[in-house]
Amino acid sequence: MITPAIIVRHCVKNYGERRALDGLNLEIKQGEIFCILGPNGGGKSTLFRILSTFIQPDEGSAEILGYDVVTSAAEVRARIGVVFQSPSLDPKLTVRENLLCSGALYGLQGKELEDRIQATIGTVQLSERLNDFVGDLSGGLQRRTEIAKCLLTSPEVLILDEPSTGLDPAARLDLWAALEQLRQEKKVTILCTTHIMDEAARADRVGILSAGKLVALGTPEELISALHGDVLRLSLRSGVDAFAQKINDHFGISAHVIEGEVRLEHPDAYALAARIAADFPNEITGLHIARPTLEDVFIARTGTLFAEQEVEPRVLHKKEKS
Ligand code: ADP
Ligand code: MG
Repeated sequence: MITPAIIVRHCVKNYGERRALDGLNLEIKQGEIFCILGPNGGGKSTLFRILSTFIQPDEGSAEILGYDVVTSAAEVRARIGVVFQSPSLDPKLTVRENLLCSGALYGLQGKELEDRIQATIGTVQLSERLNDFVGDLSGGLQRRTEIAKCLLTSPEVLILDEPSTGLDPAARLDLWAALEQLRQEKKVTILCTTHIMDEAARADRVGILSAGKLVALGTPEELISALHGDVLRLSLRSGVDAFAQKINDHFGISAHVIEGEVRLEHPDAYALAARIAADFPNEITGLHIARPTLEDVFIARTGTLFAEQEVEPRVLHKKEKS
């Protein structure tokens, strides 16, 4: 059997009273592009720090390519590339100078370093910009420089923490094109955290992380098709809670109130909408039907809107802390 690129087993991480990771299990295959999608405070950066060997889990374990991140941290570090959420380039140096400095830190020099710079810069399509100051590049090109920097050591697994934060949609597409090319050319496994739905929808598989737990795992298509059909949202003159109950009683469908609207999923949402409109003509002021997205998966699994869920993580009970 091929060793998984990443295995996380029952990982728990507390910061004092706060539980940031709550028994997380995860397995990522070699060559996969995997996205951890989660709202702010969901535990993404904590997982990123554990996998990149910066912090240790309180319970459970994690392995990269068969090496434990705690007991074999040096072997792990030799095989991973890490891109932090905050930029780690010197804007006053050129792309080339940034790469030279980084390579030197890893003990690379001379022709070997030069060859690696040429190779990585080609992968992220920055060959034309090698002599530009990093500070003059767009956000997207800076991100690609950052990826080039961590590719110098030819990592087998690349871990990126919210690499798209602060990028405009075009730069985000650029970044994803570079990641896809990297996987294709170099067979690198890519684990990327994000809070952007569209970005997660591009990954091979997605794990939705909420309050330190995986609440969903699968390909974007699997997650979406596990919902009960299209999403119907109803705006009402008043009494949303009572109306949701009426839908439950009248049609035997479970409807929820989210952000002042009644919301439900149904395989034939158009026919259902017509029936609701006919049966309750004076109550509905607006009606919206759409194909479900990963946001709907999140709502279905957690009962809250993604953006709303700035999670206040669980505060531990005394007996759990021992
Ligand atoms: P994300 O990256 O998904 O936003 P984090 O892993 O940064 O989530 O944080 C998870 C939870 O742990 C949050 O509630 C955050 O406030 C808390 N947390 C993260 N880092 C620390 C820290 N160094 N000290 C105390 N609490 C922290
Ligand atoms: Mg974070």
